[in-house]
Amino acid sequence: MLKGNFPVDKFKALQTPFYYYNVELLQETLDMVKTEAGKYGYHVHYAIKANANPRILQLIAQNGFGADCVSGGEVQAALDAGFPAGKIVFAGVGKADWEINLGLDNDIFCFNVESLAELEIIDELAAAKGKTAAVALRINPEVDAHTHAKITTGMKENKFGINLSQLGMVLDRLAELKFVKLIGIHCHIGSQITDMAAFRGLTIRVNEIQDELAARGLQVENLNFGGGLGIDYYHPNHLPVPAFDNYFAVFNKLLQPRPGQQVHFEPGRSIVAQCGNLISRVLYVKEGETKNFCILDAGFTELLRPAMYDAYHRIENISNDEPVAKYDVVGPICESSDVFGKEVELNKAHRGDFIALRSAGAYGEVMASQYNCRQLPKAYYSDTI
Ligand SMILES: *Cc1c(COP(=O)(O)O)cnc(C)c1O
Repeated sequence: MLKGNFPVDKFKALQTPFYYYNVELLQETLDMVKTEAGKYGYHVHYAIKANANPRILQLIAQNGFGADCVSGGEVQAALDAGFPAGKIVFAGVGKADWEINLGLDNDIFCFNVESLAELEIIDELAAAKGKTAAVALRINPEVDAHTHAKITTGMKENKFGINLSQLGMVLDRLAELKFVKLIGIHCHIGSQITDMAAFRGLTIRVNEIQDELAARGLQVENLNFGGGLGIDYYHPNHLPVPAFDNYFAVFNKLLQPRPGQQVHFEPGRSIVAQCGNLISRVLYVKEGETKNFCILDAGFTELLRPAMYDAYHRIENISNDEPVAKYDVVGPICESSDVFGKEVELNKAHRGDFIALRSAGAYGEVMASQYNCRQLPKAYYSDTI
């Protein structure tokens, strides 16, 4: 069985569970994004919510990327990591006043506005500071991303964005507001999207929206297509860097940009998922009547995705190459949902073996909690371990 290349000897001195980041793979991924987006002059803002580990953020900022934030805390984390304010975009359905003020005080590039009610508050808060807020309207394009229901965002029934049918009304109101300036339109249809047809549908829909704007005599400077590109959770070694070439080519082929328009993206998962792994030790192997349980010292407090949205992570015993056996791999948390995988084939597990949960760099460490009074996991990096 092909496994990731882990410095198991160095792990022996460390307390588990912890996150282990392959920074060389992250750099390779960032280089690929720069090359492929660069071919078309596209701007890339890394979606901080996928992984806000300070070292990871610094590495991404040093590579010249912008940041996509969905909270005031993320705006602050982006600034602290060295992302220039002029490359920070701020989305989110429920921005609190202090969060909007933080964006205004730092003159961030753009607020991605998700409702008329929010637009009016941004106008009011900007007026109080004597500033003009740059805004993009987050439009709900009604494109089905064909992904898990809990991570789709671009349909009418989702809480995100302004519905297409209400766009005209919002534009009318926007024209009356004095302290907001429309600089773009924004869409984000969901996450872990592997079918390029969804992105084709999105691009065509944005062309239609541009026609509608033109009919009203409007043209925006910026188009933002959000994030959402998926990764291969089943074969982390096979394609460790996602196919950014195919992804950006879809937009380049179908988009009809107006002269001078800038095109933006907000990838999160596709940049960081494959470089992160959750490393844990086997605490016990419990031989039940009908199945065997491999009980780890990591649980959903360290990696929530399987419990939250039935997500698959490849699980490997990186301590030995003994013949495989089947286990239900579970954590120690007192909830029945604390299961990483059922009937998983692992090289025979023994107490103390290291188990790697692969492709855990996105929506992993950042979602960790202290439920059951547990400690937050530490992180180690391939270049400094
Ligand atoms: C979550 C999110 C992203 C990133 O999504 P990925 O699937 O991780 O690429 C981008 N933009 C917005 C507005 C988001 O909420």
